[in-house]
Amino acid sequence: MKLYNTLTKQKEEFVPIQPNKVSMYHCGPTVYWTQHIGNMRAVVMADLIKRSFHYLNYDVTLVRNYTDVGHLTGDNEGDADTGEDRMAKAAQRESVDPMTIAKKYTDIYESDRESLNTLKPEHCPAATNHIQEMVDMVQILIDKGFAYSTDLAIYFDVTKKSDYTKLSGQDIAEQISDAGHGSVSDPGKRNPQDFSLWFFKVGSHSNALQTWESPFTSPLVKHGEGFPGWHIECSAMSQKYLGDSFDIHMGGIEHIPIHHTNEIAQSESATGKTMSTYWVHNEHLSVNGGKMSKSEGTSYTISDLEEKGFSALDLRYFFLQAHYRSKQNFTWESLTASQTALNKIYKEIIQLRNTSENTIGKINAELKEVFIEKISDDINLPQALAVLHKVLKSDICDSDKLATIYDFDHVLGLKLSEYTETKINIPDEIIKLLKFRAEARNNKDWETSDQIRDEIIGLGYQVLDVDGEQKIKPM
Ligand code: AMP
Ligand code: ZN
Repeated sequence: MKLYNTLTKQKEEFVPIQPNKVSMYHCGPTVYWTQHIGNMRAVVMADLIKRSFHYLNYDVTLVRNYTDVGHLTGDNEGDADTGEDRMAKAAQRESVDPMTIAKKYTDIYESDRESLNTLKPEHCPAATNHIQEMVDMVQILIDKGFAYSTDLAIYFDVTKKSDYTKLSGQDIAEQISDAGHGSVSDPGKRNPQDFSLWFFKVGSHSNALQTWESPFTSPLVKHGEGFPGWHIECSAMSQKYLGDSFDIHMGGIEHIPIHHTNEIAQSESATGKTMSTYWVHNEHLSVNGGKMSKSEGTSYTISDLEEKGFSALDLRYFFLQAHYRSKQNFTWESLTASQTALNKIYKEIIQLRNTSENTIGKINAELKEVFIEKISDDINLPQALAVLHKVLKSDICDSDKLATIYDFDHVLGLKLSEYTETKINIPDEIIKLLKFRAEARNNKDWETSDQIRDEIIGLGYQVLDVDGEQKIKPM
């Protein structure tokens, strides 16, 4: 396996810390709004990496956090230390408390993640459940002389970390300009690019809705009351679930100069060890050639797509066509083309099942080798997808074709083996019953088949048996 490492700016042979194991951290959603399809592209890309390693027989532990505190709006301008807390802003907008917002948008995110058929990470920690771990790490940074306190916050002093800009490759002057020009300035801050580890509940944050006591001191608050900075959550939670050093850290390309640079500074200063061997960054999704934008109505969500008659798997197929390090542009036309292409594959599968009488043959070793070659070349899914089309066009026997594409689908995740013609928009419960009924019919167990048909009718659907396939219609 070769992976492109942002740290070294080249494709490198993947050498895991522990043999046959992959430990991976992915910066997750801020649960203050429904994630748009750009956010979901990042989730699918991480899933493709995880599935590729699985396919190559690695045991993968993926951690993806939920950010439910401390992510300020200034981060949009490259300045994570300024602006309002996104959770508080959403709470105000919807007149509820921040944890109600977190629950609502975590649930929507989870449902979208699942409909895109991405595997659930082994750990999904929420920042608000790990305040103690963050406080502990900040304390270590203070004790080791990397962090200092002002009346308003605890900061990391970036001049104390000699390789602070190693991930971005920027010089410190560029880093200063990237550190932004926030509206909240702290006269006690030593360097403009120093970033906050803990905000005290004072000044512009005196009305903060989510705060905790801490051992840190400011003359302006009692019991060190405040809330953590955004970067420290990923350092604390990755350490808790993956240890001081892990294999892969992934996130969007915009995280390189600030968020990931700061995560490295915190973690490596606290532990004295390398945080992550490989740093993997996905490029962004644009819409109609431009940035996705809420005000222009182009921050589409999965439910926007579903309302227009597309499925999340159509979008997954669309995502498969661009490499994770390439920009991808979304248009309704390109999504329609993906839907057509995916439906064509499903149709071919139905045909293959008929011609092979539902027997699953042998995985074709030669084509599998080519597929492995593609995914092992920095997760080249567009080319791996081309191998699937090659299988369909090849002259191997139909049952072997089925076996081979079902095998590839462990990575592609298009639910090829589960597909039934009746699947679109039919509730899961009915799909399950249809599967049982197909089994009963295969076993010529007509009594059970009829019983299940009656059960399906009771749920408001009619079953028709056409050319050996079950077709379903709402009654
Ligand atoms: P946020 O909820 O804003 O913290 O973003 C969650 C994740 O989505 C981050 O890892 C971002 O890098 C990623 N992301 C945001 N916008 C896009 C986009 N247009 N295309 C791909 N990924 C994105
Ligand atoms: Zn992070």
